[in-house]
Amino acid sequence: MDPRLHSLLELQKEMSIQRELELQYQEIPRRREEILYCINNLKEEAKAAEERFKQREVEQKTRELELQQNQAMRVKKEAQLLSIKNNKEYQATLAEIEVLDRKNARGEEKMIELLDQIEKERQALKQKRAELEEKESKFQAELEALDHKEKGLTGKVDAARSKAESAIKNVDPNLYRRFKMIFDGKGGKALATANGGYCGACNIRLTPRLIQLTTRGQDIVICEGCSRFLYWDHSLDEDRINDL
Ligand SMILES: [Zn+2]
Repeated sequence: MDPRLHSLLELQKEMSIQRELELQYQEIPRRREEILYCINNLKEEAKAAEERFKQREVEQKTRELELQQNQAMRVKKEAQLLSIKNNKEYQATLAEIEVLDRKNARGEEKMIELLDQIEKERQALKQKRAELEEKESKFQAELEALDHKEKGLTGKVDAARSKAESAIKNVDPNLYRRFKMIFDGKGGKALATANGGYCGACNIRLTPRLIQLTTRGQDIVICEGCSRFLYWDHSLDEDRINDL
């Protein structure tokens, strides 16, 4: 195999490791932010549920007081009836009592409705708090795991970087520039196999000339479809024979 191709394969290997570790490393702060955002959302939801519950409780107390006042008023009006001599005044007071009765009936209905709503809000609040507690402890554990992973990765990324740098030194600078451009532009894959007569990356059918060049392995061959460096992986051929 062309020693240039050999060094490119080595470079691909080391730079892939470096890239993979760096991606993992960069993923950590993103995930951390996502977790904090989720926790914050859950907290706000629980707070909103608590506020709804409290508001209902206040409303219930107000209504209850109003109902008690109206009921007391009715008792008072009824007592007044006994001392009224004038028929017109008597009828007027009776009408007032009727109005109060209707009001109180509505008030009692509303009270039942409110108590029902309060119970629902109480359950919703309980559920939200339980959810917050459960998820917060899970997230907390994940955050700790992320810290741990981050610390471990720092050293691994450094080691991979220095290995990649050594591999770069074995490659001609012009070739490296080309390699780097493809590596960065094509998702971290600058080489592709030519086995079977197809580019292993973009699947284009290779011309007989390119196939011949890659099987010989004495030249730098570029895929016409994706511009990656092509090479014939003879170990795959052996595998195939072994498989048969
Ligand atoms: Zn290709």
